[in-house]
Amino acid sequence: MKAPAKSSASSSPAVSTPGHSPGRKPGAGPGAGLFALLAEHDHEQVSLYAEPSCGYRGIIAIHSTVLGPALGGTRFLNYKSDEEALVDCLRLARGMTYKAAVAGLNLGGGKSVILGDNRTTRREALFRAHGRHVESLKGRYITAEDVGTSVSDMEYIRAETNCVTGLIGKSGDPSPVTAYGVYRGMKACAHYRHGSDSLAGKTVALQGCGSVGFHLAKLLAAEGATIVATDIDPARAQRVVEECGARAVGPDEIYDVRADIFAPCALGAVINDDTLARLHVDIVAGGANNQLAEDRHGDLLEERHITYAPDYVINGGGLINVNAELHGWTPERARNKAGDIYDTILRVFEIARDERIPSYEAADRLAEQRIASVAKVRQNFV
Ligand code: NAD
Repeated sequence: MKAPAKSSASSSPAVSTPGHSPGRKPGAGPGAGLFALLAEHDHEQVSLYAEPSCGYRGIIAIHSTVLGPALGGTRFLNYKSDEEALVDCLRLARGMTYKAAVAGLNLGGGKSVILGDNRTTRREALFRAHGRHVESLKGRYITAEDVGTSVSDMEYIRAETNCVTGLIGKSGDPSPVTAYGVYRGMKACAHYRHGSDSLAGKTVALQGCGSVGFHLAKLLAAEGATIVATDIDPARAQRVVEECGARAVGPDEIYDVRADIFAPCALGAVINDDTLARLHVDIVAGGANNQLAEDRHGDLLEERHITYAPDYVINGGGLINVNAELHGWTPERARNKAGDIYDTILRVFEIARDERIPSYEAADRLAEQRIASVAKVRQNFV
């Protein structure tokens, strides 16, 4: 795909496509035609914008605004190609639609990417250019931090638009709310699987003792769970050993731990062909994004009678925290909303059981049902 042609020094969105209808579709690979990519991912609108004065090249993808303005962070990466950047942006935007829908938020799904070296120190002009790109969408897209960007970058964006969240001194670190949602989702899994939602006496194999993993470990320890923890950073694992009474194991050993629950809180794609056979657990429930290497690994979990809490449902607390900032919610209200993940997880399992589908598909079904029902009640002119 070519970069947008520019006829003058001024910057303008170069691509804009209407139409929407979210749904799980196979990802179009790089190399497909531009409009074929957009059709395959069913997005409402995609815009490209360039600002040569500062080297800004950015893409904003709006997947759906049925439930509200499309929210999703800005990712700043040195992509191998423009196609790779576009496909990443489209895929991430669609994921945000589903995450917001199952979290019960009045938000749609979007995402943006800036192409380039995210270690650059010349950030003001770049992020102000991005802010102008966001502003040009007139409230249809709201941005936030993501890989390669920081809260101070959000302040530069804020100089050009109000459509940005995650600002300095506002909602702050989302990980305690995310961890609380994961904890509540884990309890729902225990209720579904073991007939009681108590985690006392259960063994949890925790992968990743970073922001989410550490806060989760504290909640688990307070309830009397036994924690076996790992992290590639030994100091982080040690903190969970000292403060939560965990036993530490090596990063690769975590998959072989005999536990009730495996809690991935580090990387994506950890449920894959190599790890699946090694898991001896009843439940997979953790905060990491994109835990299944491929959808078929969700089917394989099902075949092995392992109860899987779909990642984007159980880790929705971070998005709930951002939403809280947008709407001025108190921290208690955000935490309570994250607590509702308990009921959402049970609802996902109910759909899975009724429709005889794996839980990851049931989560999509739940999101699509909510989007379709809201679209219906809003179809008439009032
Ligand atoms: P983090 O960077 O604070 O923690 C991740 C931890 O995982 C780090 O301590 C890192 O050393 C460790 N790690 C990396 N590779 C590992 C490996 N191979 N084995 C063991 N440990 C490894 O990140 P975080 O904010 O805690 O987020 C964790 C996961 O949850 C990520 O997938 C993130 O996308 C997802 N998530 C986070 C939030 C949030 O509110 N922070 C919200 C939703 C989803």
